[in-house]
Amino acid sequence: MSRGADIAIIGAGLVGSALALGLTRHGAQVALFDAGGDDFHASAGNFGLVWVQGKGIEAPVYADLTRRSVALWPAFQAELAEATGHDPAYRRSGGLKIALSDGEFATQTDTLARLHNQRAALNTELMDGDSLRAMIPALGPEVRGGTFCAEDGHADPLATHAALRRATQRAIIRAHIHRIEPTARGFTLHSETGTYEATRVVIAAGLASDALGAPLGLSAHLRPQRGQILVTQRMERFLDLACHTVRQTTQGTVMMGDTKEDVGYDRGTTPMAARAMVARAVRMFPHLADARIVRQWGALRVMSPDGLPVYAQSETHPGAYLVTCHSGVTLAAVHARDVADAIATDRLTDTWPELNQTRLKGAAA
Ligand SMILES: Cc1cc2nc3c(=O)[nH]c(=O)nc-3n(C[C@H](O)[C@H](O)[C@H](O)COP(=O)(O)OP(=O)(O)OC[C@H]3O[C@@H](n4cnc5c(N)ncnc54)[C@H](O)[C@@H]3O)c2cc1C
Repeated sequence: MSRGADIAIIGAGLVGSALALGLTRHGAQVALFDAGGDDFHASAGNFGLVWVQGKGIEAPVYADLTRRSVALWPAFQAELAEATGHDPAYRRSGGLKIALSDGEFATQTDTLARLHNQRAALNTELMDGDSLRAMIPALGPEVRGGTFCAEDGHADPLATHAALRRATQRAIIRAHIHRIEPTARGFTLHSETGTYEATRVVIAAGLASDALGAPLGLSAHLRPQRGQILVTQRMERFLDLACHTVRQTTQGTVMMGDTKEDVGYDRGTTPMAARAMVARAVRMFPHLADARIVRQWGALRVMSPDGLPVYAQSETHPGAYLVTCHSGVTLAAVHARDVADAIATDRLTDTWPELNQTRLKGAAA
């Protein structure tokens, strides 16, 4: 059986479903394919930061994109909550990256100076340990200082994803697409349950994107990077703002994380990482020594070679796109608005030429 749509999106993670929401708003007939299954993919396993500080060193386009998304987040949240009843629980609380030694503080100072020189560190300030303890009494004596950015915040990533899935549920087709075939009128998508026709196709399949895109001349040379995260039982509220590796959720649980490990496609967890994450969190917030950890998991980031998003259109098959990034929570609001608008009006490459795949040509996989 063969069915048709204006635009097929492959992958209903945070990236694909945000794009589907925006494209539907344009009146396009969207088919959003997802393989489903128990795949513990990035959208189900992330830390939930909506994070500006530190983004965009040597890449002002990324700093601008991130800041634009943060500006759009309140309206994005309101739209999702109203349409679906799932509140993404976004709070622009401010965000803090903590230094626990003179060395870490010196590195933060240098990084901030570089960002300032590139005008990419707006609203970020360096604070010493005493100023931070005055702001957050739960911080311990080992905190040397940190960088605080008023634009940073956090959201409930699972609620955000659930809201996006609910908002786009009429477009979702559960199917594993194993091949995209170019045709005279567009593309035929092949799955085990049938074939689907679409005028245009957006590949947003996370780490599976390269395999689907390569025959269409789309390759982002993506690689997995594992992050492990811990979560505690509910605790009395002590932290409203988001810290880079510790945050308290609206339910009161505390998330600690997250590692950056190059271990291929292994999503497992290790006691060593758990010990290191707890030790560091306790040095920041000593009372966490009494917290009970209730869960640990690992998930795979979707990393491009230079760490920047990829917004690519195929040169050989112009109706085919590949969209991916490693900050899918932060960028969800701009994906559902500006990036979807650019795809709908065929301006993706003109709008962000720096983020096309040509910059990645020759990159190692
Ligand atoms: C540990 C960790 C912490 C993170 N922390 C943050 C954070 O604090 N803030 C932030 O902004 N970002 C964070 N991220 C990144 C964020 O989670 C990702 O950028 C985002 O989830 C990527 O979403 P995606 O839709 O591209 O990919 P995925 O979530 O991997 O979704 C891809 C989807 O495509 C589907 N799919 C794959 N192949 C096919 C196929 N052939 N046919 C049909 N469907 C297919 C899969 O089933 C899946 O549903 C973190 C990631 C990790 C791993």
